[in-house]
Amino acid sequence: MKITFPHMGNVYIAGKGMLEDLGREVVLPPPCSKKTLEIGTKYSPESICLPLKINIGNYIESIERGADTILLTGSCGPCRYGFYSVIEKNILKELGYNVDFIVFDPPEGKPSNLINSFKKAAGTDNVIKIFKGFYKGKKIIEKADNLTKLSNIKRAHAIYPEKVDNIMNDFYKDIEDVHGSSEIISFINYTNKRINSVKEKKQSEYMKVGIVGEIYTIIEPFVNLEIEKKLGHFGIEVEKSLTPSKWLSHHLGLGNIGISEERKKWKAAKPYLRTLVGGHGRETVGSAILYAKEDYDGVIQILPFNCMPEIVAESILPTVQKDYNIPILTLVVDEMTGEAGYLTRLEAFVDLLKKRREEKKNGELLLRG
Ligand code: SF4
Repeated sequence: MKITFPHMGNVYIAGKGMLEDLGREVVLPPPCSKKTLEIGTKYSPESICLPLKINIGNYIESIERGADTILLTGSCGPCRYGFYSVIEKNILKELGYNVDFIVFDPPEGKPSNLINSFKKAAGTDNVIKIFKGFYKGKKIIEKADNLTKLSNIKRAHAIYPEKVDNIMNDFYKDIEDVHGSSEIISFINYTNKRINSVKEKKQSEYMKVGIVGEIYTIIEPFVNLEIEKKLGHFGIEVEKSLTPSKWLSHHLGLGNIGISEERKKWKAAKPYLRTLVGGHGRETVGSAILYAKEDYDGVIQILPFNCMPEIVAESILPTVQKDYNIPILTLVVDEMTGEAGYLTRLEAFVDLLKKRREEKKNGELLLRG
């Protein structure tokens, strides 16, 4: 069995480490690229949301590398993600690919199905072994997400932000050849040290932007046209409202005892949106409010064209912007998104944030005078 899975931010690093510890052979898809998107767009329904198109591109590129089994998480709730596994299986079948799918569907009263999927993917019935592998995987994803976070902060403060880019490029290039959780964790620790050693500018103040929106577009750099990097080069610290480790913490950790970050977001969003609208629409509204309360300079919402939950959130964000006096930019991405137009909008937004910062500073100075 040669296992693959779609790219989704840093998830592949944890998936690889965990499965390799269990003795499984992993075939990673190449990093998402224009080619991935072209393949996915060619074979997916035109009106389906962008993540599915990229998934299809990832699968086909992995199958070309020898993969024969695809791992995928399932979902329930009012959003197309719940149909992804069914649509994706059909697309690959119609294209003549003979691959097996292992889907981790939510238990919905039948935990045995989920447990069996885990056993099949892990290649063992030994629950303790599976649990240990999962624990290591969780640790890797937390460390990898923390590394991304550190790089996003450091880039904004570095004298030469390109140094941070180079270290992270090395990391993503070399991680494919690092095997097993212990080696992967050591490599993340080593990269952390390299990032920490990058020299910083002397600056007393800096701007902060919170990224909200659909999880896939927030965490997959190819899809959001490396927004974190672009903002970092403008000297802006970036904080992402959703990451794989936050998702795990909510679904398999603190969320179960009612104290995860997501619950705070639901509470903040309540006056504007009381119910689940699928995906992370409610979290988008809540996160924007929390960022405003934490005095962030601005918020950027990213969503795939046609994403229903985020369209609901988008319709509410102008009210949040007005009520909390925080600039919010919405960026829609799809296969037609051009880098030049995207960058122009981002630059205009950053100019607006800088102008507001200046005005705020002058206002404060006047008050003090
Ligand atoms: S959240 Fe949006 S983009 Fe993601 S699967 Fe649902 S509809 Fe598609």
